[in-house]
Amino acid sequence: MMNSIRGSIREVLEVSAVFIAVGLTFTAVSVLTSDIHFKIGTFRPIYSIPPHLVALSAMGLAVGFATSLFSIRFSMRPVILSVVLMLLFDLDHIPAALGIPQPIRPAHSLLFLGVVVLAELILLKKPIETGVLIGAAFLGHLAVDTGLFPLFYPFSMQYYALNSIYPWLYVSAFVLAIMAGLLTRFNTRPPNFVRN
Ligand SMILES: [Zn+2]
Repeated sequence: MMNSIRGSIREVLEVSAVFIAVGLTFTAVSVLTSDIHFKIGTFRPIYSIPPHLVALSAMGLAVGFATSLFSIRFSMRPVILSVVLMLLFDLDHIPAALGIPQPIRPAHSLLFLGVVVLAELILLKKPIETGVLIGAAFLGHLAVDTGLFPLFYPFSMQYYALNSIYPWLYVSAFVLAIMAGLLTRFNTRPPNFVRN
């Protein structure tokens, strides 16, 4: 039991450290390289942050439980990981919080998702199910967010409205979450996130 808790904390810290490093770098590059007309990101009013964090955490719990319930055995590790990942996608709001002009949600893009998943798989040698869970957290996060996001940044500077694709986001987040769980049944090599 203690080993399992220690393993969960270590896994979440490792994955988070790489995620934070990639997220902050990606955000910094977006601030330094984007055209001024693209830098229209603002920081949401302070009073609206706690309810948003609660909504993201609830979505993280739902996605993580979906993964764990379909895994080879139930574990809280994907659940904790999913909640943390769901929150970390908002690191890209830091420049606006500091009063620095920035693009809207640069890390809410497919390229960032690809880069961060590759970093986890290559640097930490995480199994493919961890990458799929990050994809589920990405879609789940977008399902909770409101407003605009640059899906194809930096290949396209177009912003897309999130509310036009909500049903698709919820469905695909849970499809990926269940897939991440099912993949643990085929992957027997450590470090599998439902094993110690
Ligand atoms: Zn967000």
